[in-house]
Amino acid sequence: MTTATPDTPSLAFDGRAFINGERVAARDGQTFDCFSPVDGRLLAPVARGQAADIDAAVAAARAAFEDRRWAGLAPARRKRVMLAFADLLLKHADELALTETLDMGKPVRYARSVDVNSAANCIRWYGEAVDKVYDEIAPTPDTALALITREPVGVVGVIVPWNYPMIMAAWKIAPALAAGNSVVLKPSEKSPLTALRLAELALAAGLPPGVFNVVPGYGPEAGSPLALHMDVDCIAFTGSTRVGKQIHVMAGQSNLKRAWTELGGKSPNIVFADCPNLDKAVEAAVGSIFFNQGESCNAPSRLFVEASIKDAFLEKALKLVPQYQPGNPLDKATVMGAIVDKTQLDTVLRYIESGKKEGAKLLAGGEQAEPVKGGCYVLPTIFDGVKNDMTIAREEIFGPVLSVLSFTDAADVVRQANSNIYGLQAAVWTRDINKAHGVARALRAGTVHVNQYDEDDITVPFGGFKQSGVGRDKSLHAFDKYTEVKTTWIRIDSPI
Ligand code: NAD
Repeated sequence: MTTATPDTPSLAFDGRAFINGERVAARDGQTFDCFSPVDGRLLAPVARGQAADIDAAVAAARAAFEDRRWAGLAPARRKRVMLAFADLLLKHADELALTETLDMGKPVRYARSVDVNSAANCIRWYGEAVDKVYDEIAPTPDTALALITREPVGVVGVIVPWNYPMIMAAWKIAPALAAGNSVVLKPSEKSPLTALRLAELALAAGLPPGVFNVVPGYGPEAGSPLALHMDVDCIAFTGSTRVGKQIHVMAGQSNLKRAWTELGGKSPNIVFADCPNLDKAVEAAVGSIFFNQGESCNAPSRLFVEASIKDAFLEKALKLVPQYQPGNPLDKATVMGAIVDKTQLDTVLRYIESGKKEGAKLLAGGEQAEPVKGGCYVLPTIFDGVKNDMTIAREEIFGPVLSVLSFTDAADVVRQANSNIYGLQAAVWTRDINKAHGVARALRAGTVHVNQYDEDDITVPFGGFKQSGVGRDKSLHAFDKYTEVKTTWIRIDSPI
């Protein structure tokens, strides 16, 4: 199937699965239609993977792992393949960015500058790391030597969501592959196309067939068989808390595979009256909730502003809102694109209605938009007067909706901020170093930002406290998820 836009060449999408180094149709020939939220166009029929396809992919991954065609290579050789893989992403950057935009609706400028670059950087970083990580020797008596080594866990199942399809996949496949595992990836049914291209590029970079397999399909049909599979050693999941809980159950019900989950968020962004730069705080609050159409797990969706500066803060925030009017994501000037599909659009609109019904004050947006006919768009939305127990403050909306709350002092805001099932990220803005450290320490979140919200780097761990998940992506900590620790005792009968 081909598609063309006014200023881009036509693209042909192949929706078949990728198993053992080859494109294959689903075993029973079924497909599902993949539509673009940009304008509703049909992008491609995609293989509708089921248990039989997962079985075939896991068998290929197992065979590749057992004959050590990848795990058995010297780390320096695996590094070279990973670096070539990263280079190929950059070589195909325009095509990958356009595919991501058409598939999930994000502005093409960010698909190119953020998604492709971050995914390539992640693959390169783990490739570079793998021949620089040493094992340990335990401090044992002279009569013995105890080696503490890390080995790949085996076959890793990966299930990812649709909001950053390439980056979410890269955060898991890069450390898993670099450590010598084989992988079966199930992308979201809403955005399966770039994952399939990643597998082709990995093969072209020299990754042996069978080491990286991709089976598209629906969660219950393809995701569950992967999480329940008796021959999968580890399942790495990013998605909703609802499904994440099922992943841990499935791991326990089957072979007690290692289960790692990166789940939802409702991140509090706390602005004290002594914030060092109000304009910067306003820009960060508005820019971060509307980036990626609000479809970010770490979006600062609960904004707590100290009561004495709230009016001034909101006046500045409302002036910025017009910059985020949704536009055609294929237009390079657009900064807010389309919501991933009609179902998610309806969810966002339902939350907006609940905000109105529960008594929050709508300051901006609040309705659907149609910058492109047939697409899924919603206006950037701000609610004031939100209470922490309202639905829009408690639940993850995953759309461009900002809830503004207020507080009186540090103890009050920490209590409100922590009173939520999630604990992914948080931010605090103050020029008082004691308040910054004290509040940062008291916030129950995997990452706390101080006087900024946009710092990010592959070198730092990413993950959540509480129901935001178990485990960490990124940084050297991610290797812990995809390796087993082995102790080898060696007796020393010293002749001396
Ligand atoms: P989702 O849970 O609906 O789906 C995620 C993936 O799980 C998809 O591939 C889906 O097909 C699959 N799935 C669904 N049901 C399944 C089942 N029964 N068994 C196995 N797999 C199943 O989430 P989503 O709507 O795709 O993504 C949005 C969610 O992802 C949000 O909650 C967001 O916060 C979260 N997220 C978290 C992070 C993070 O790093 N913490 C990053 C991005 C997104």
